[in-house]
Amino acid sequence: MGGCRVLLETCAQCGSGDALPRGFCAKCGSSNVSPREVSGAAVVWSFTVVHRPPSGDCSEDLPYGIALVDVGYGVRMMVRVPVELTIGQQIEIERTDLNAPPKFVRMLHSD
Ligand SMILES: [Zn+2]
Repeated sequence: MGGCRVLLETCAQCGSGDALPRGFCAKCGSSNVSPREVSGAAVVWSFTVVHRPPSGDCSEDLPYGIALVDVGYGVRMMVRVPVELTIGQQIEIERTDLNAPPKFVRMLHSD
């Protein structure tokens, strides 16, 4: 397994996680939440190729992919990825700051 980690906010009450630092649990309402590092292994749940950036900013490298990935704890996160990904692909992502978006690290072999 890879060593990359993703920082989530997780609930001590019900065990669910949240991609955003809300300070409370979106599932059960408990304020007993704290940052936790989980494995960066994630599965692509949905995937879109962006040919034109929404902002109209032409400085981006186009096209690029935006994937919604499952990281466990009931959490899905948006991450910018290479366009050759497919739905169901296992990838590794990393996030060390709760307020920052996760970064794509590499593709993982599904076997
Ligand atoms: Zn909870």
